Amino acid sequence: MSHYKGLYMLFNLQRYSTHDGPGIRSVVFLKGCTLGCRWCQNPESRSPRREVLFDARLCLDQCRLCASACPHAIRRDGPQPVIDRHRLTEQDLDNLQHCCPSQALVVCGEPQTVDEIMAAVLRDKPFYDRSGGGVTLSGGEPFLQPALAATLLARSKAAGIHTAVESCLHVPWKYIEPSLGHLDLLLADLKHVDSARFRQWTDGSARRVLDNFRRLAARGTPMVIRVPLIPHFNADREAVRQITDFAADELGAREIHFLPYHTLGIHKYHLLDMPYLAPDTGLDDPDLLDFACHYAGQKGMTAWIRG
Ligand code: SF4
Ligand code: SF4
Repeated sequence: MSHYKGLYMLFNLQRYSTHDGPGIRSVVFLKGCTLGCRWCQNPESRSPRREVLFDARLCLDQCRLCASACPHAIRRDGPQPVIDRHRLTEQDLDNLQHCCPSQALVVCGEPQTVDEIMAAVLRDKPFYDRSGGGVTLSGGEPFLQPALAATLLARSKAAGIHTAVESCLHVPWKYIEPSLGHLDLLLADLKHVDSARFRQWTDGSARRVLDNFRRLAARGTPMVIRVPLIPHFNADREAVRQITDFAADELGAREIHFLPYHTLGIHKYHLLDMPYLAPDTGLDDPDLLDFACHYAGQKGMTAWIRG
């Protein structure tokens, strides 16, 4: 797992967010995910380990600092450094953390203690109180670190802070359950109900996700269903109908958010030397969004389109 010696791996802690639950929120992004969604706009969140992002456009000529810091994993034979990512050790990542003068090379992932995370969360309590906001755990998949998630939620609740989690629910139930007593709102992805398509586009099991949804609904967990609409995967009327039917008929959901696909995260794949396997143009079908909202309304749900 991604924690060691009492440290946990974050890849961001975003203050003043208004997109990840009600009011103004601090969003704690934990590294590590069990899915590999082709369209993932945060590919740096998937691995539980620290990673190097390299932006060749920002690299300075005549500079060899990164190669000097990690000579066995970074070559500098030409104008740009060549990174052998498989050879990077934890010590190399420590060496590289503040090495690059131009931010061309950035180490993503910062080990923090629970106390450090909570100190950052508590700092903005006056904003939460005034706006009806709070803290949101996101990722990656926050339930993948069950003890950390439950502890952060419990300590936030004890401090009078509203708690939310953004999850893909692709984890064993025993990872979710410890958090439920400290959770005010779950924002959960319902990507598809078709097992074959889910497997093909995410490398995961739809059944695991749907089973968790059913158990959460049976527990009466306050939930917002979120549906990313991805061309060629689920951005068609039949898939939207199936997903909405499941949310309404099997879960009794009251609120559903449709998230049109965008490609703002593609550049991160270049920075990580990863191939991008989803469409390279965004969702361009306003009729589908109208249909989705109308159909969800017919099923008794409040529907929103979110960015
Ligand atoms: S579940 Fe979210 S973080 Fe994980 S791969 Fe899919 S889109 Fe990325
Ligand atoms: S330290 Fe930064 S600017 Fe210098 S060679 Fe490495 S990536 Fe380029």
